Amino acid sequence: MIYQLLVVEDEEQLRRIICDHFTSEGYSTIEAANGEEAISQWEMHHPDLVILDIMLPIKSGMEVLKEIRTIDTTPVIMLTARVEEIDKLLGLEMGADDYITKPFSPRELSARVKAVLRRTNSNLSEKHILYFGSLKVDIHRMEAYCNNQLISLTGTEFRILLIFMENPGQVFSRLQILERIYGDMYEGYERTIDTHINNLRRKMEAAYINDIAIKTVYGVGYKLVEEGS
Ligand code: CA
Repeated sequence: MIYQLLVVEDEEQLRRIICDHFTSEGYSTIEAANGEEAISQWEMHHPDLVILDIMLPIKSGMEVLKEIRTIDTTPVIMLTARVEEIDKLLGLEMGADDYITKPFSPRELSARVKAVLRRTNSNLSEKHILYFGSLKVDIHRMEAYCNNQLISLTGTEFRILLIFMENPGQVFSRLQILERIYGDMYEGYERTIDTHINNLRRKMEAAYINDIAIKTVYGVGYKLVEEGS
């Protein structure tokens, strides 16, 4: 699997060096130059790990870490300068997984990233939490959330939603959806899928999900897409 890293660093040159290094090692990278951008990038992409500088414009790394931690356990490695010793300790207390003191070599950082990913890999490899836009799905619990608000779904609605969440953007015909839910033993008509889809749409709307939508592909079926894409 290709790990996606979010690199948050306001010093452009350093950010470039870090991103280039990880790209050359086969990671996918996204970046942010300040705290606010970090939060929006994190919300949009849900990367596997965040490299987070402490001293950042608009929102500090500590604030960003705090916001991430209220929602999720994404591994975070803090970048600190020597003068930030106290913040560094605070960061670990607030749930950072590791820190590295500037100046550091990309190779050093890369070793830390690998170690943290290995340590947290048990939850990563399970991938039982899926994200798409503001929607989050917990496969083990069979639950869907929007901004941590539980959306109450029937078993069938959940299974349909899961098909879309596992394959965003991909079109599924009614027959394909039926077969995936019930196997070859399905009863009922393809049109019953329409009812389930309409119920799902209604519940997503009621949960104020407006960044993603289940679109009808006329004559074919349905797909889950980001709005505006
Ligand atoms: Ca900085």
